[in-house]
Amino acid sequence: MQELHDAPLAPLTTFRLGGPATRLVTATTDAEVIEAVREADATDTPLLLIGGGSNLVIGDKGFEGTALVIATKGVELDGTTLELAAGEVWTDAVARTVEAGLAGIECLAGIPGSAGATPIQNVGAYGQEVSSTITEVIAYDRGSGETVVIPNADCAFSYRHSRFKSDPDRYVVLRVRFRLEDADGLSAPIRYAETARVLGVEAGERVPLTAARETVLRLRAGKGMVLDPEDHDTWSAGSFFTNPILTAEQFAAFRARVEERLGKGVEPPAYPAGEGHTKTSAAWLIDKAGFTKGYGTGPARISTKHTLALTNRGAATTEDLLALAREVVEGVHAAFGITLVNEPVTVGVSL
Ligand SMILES: Cc1cc2nc3c(=O)[nH]c(=O)nc-3n(C[C@H](O)[C@H](O)[C@H](O)COP(=O)(O)OP(=O)(O)OC[C@H]3O[C@@H](n4cnc5c(N)ncnc54)[C@H](O)[C@@H]3O)c2cc1C
Repeated sequence: MQELHDAPLAPLTTFRLGGPATRLVTATTDAEVIEAVREADATDTPLLLIGGGSNLVIGDKGFEGTALVIATKGVELDGTTLELAAGEVWTDAVARTVEAGLAGIECLAGIPGSAGATPIQNVGAYGQEVSSTITEVIAYDRGSGETVVIPNADCAFSYRHSRFKSDPDRYVVLRVRFRLEDADGLSAPIRYAETARVLGVEAGERVPLTAARETVLRLRAGKGMVLDPEDHDTWSAGSFFTNPILTAEQFAAFRARVEERLGKGVEPPAYPAGEGHTKTSAAWLIDKAGFTKGYGTGPARISTKHTLALTNRGAATTEDLLALAREVVEGVHAAFGITLVNEPVTVGVSL
């Protein structure tokens, strides 16, 4: 187990932001992870779990406690069953399943970070979410001090949410098991309209796995959603805000605001989101509130490739980023009466 003191956390995040941790431990086996967590808990030391740091906004003051980097390795593929150690790089694991001819996570290619973090916010993109393929999450339960196997039905998965996200101090994900599909080299049915259009198929059709993965990677790269150290548009946490889910009443009030502000006949994006609920697009709201691509003059700006990504142009602090985020939240609220919620996890700071 590697241990450092007063160690900077910024290099461990895709934003390249955040002050130092009192203690930084890197664990490469499940036993080391458990040992580090037990030690922190036994001494009442605050604990911050870090995978790939691609969904973290850490305050400029850093973290007083133990930051634990989960760097465990292990990929077991047995028929259509895949088990990944928490520290495995997610996008590499996706590439392996595509190579092995298995469908189910190919449209989640290019998402940065670790396999162990995918259940936390039920990672999703381009019509797929991990909640559709995860069978079990193996986790260390800090409440009981035991390793537990949590079946999918008990993970409380929903849009960018899970029981792990609502109870962040309880579980440390050690391994994640998936059930994939052998569809003779074909992908799962393509659900996302943009992907289907680019692939030249109808939504619901299957395509060769490699075509699905490569198309998603191309679309993502065009939006600055594939990490590239040379490209400041990717010094982000991907989407900074979740898409708002509105009740029928809230959606009616929102439509009225849209008409008032943008004129008769302008319809906001609307997608079914379960009984009596409608999901609208955070990117659309931000853009229509006047925060267009590239917005900002300071060291933190909206990505030039995607309205939903807030980015560090190289010299930003976390406070710069938060000031921009607050400006966007206030602007969208003033324009449309909707309060955007941040998707990345904040550490020592809040919006
Ligand atoms: C360019 C870019 C594009 C992105 N695109 C998408 C996208 O399309 N869809 C999407 O859903 N997300 C996307 N994201 C967000 C991010 O990549 C995912 O949320 C990813 O799963 C985070 O993984 P991580 O290992 O980097 O987690 P971290 O940022 O290290 O941690 C995130 C949270 O999970 C916790 N955590 C990490 N590991 C564990 C563990 N083993 N056990 C318990 N808790 C843990 C952390 O404490 C923290 O609360 C994007 C980010 C970037 C930078």
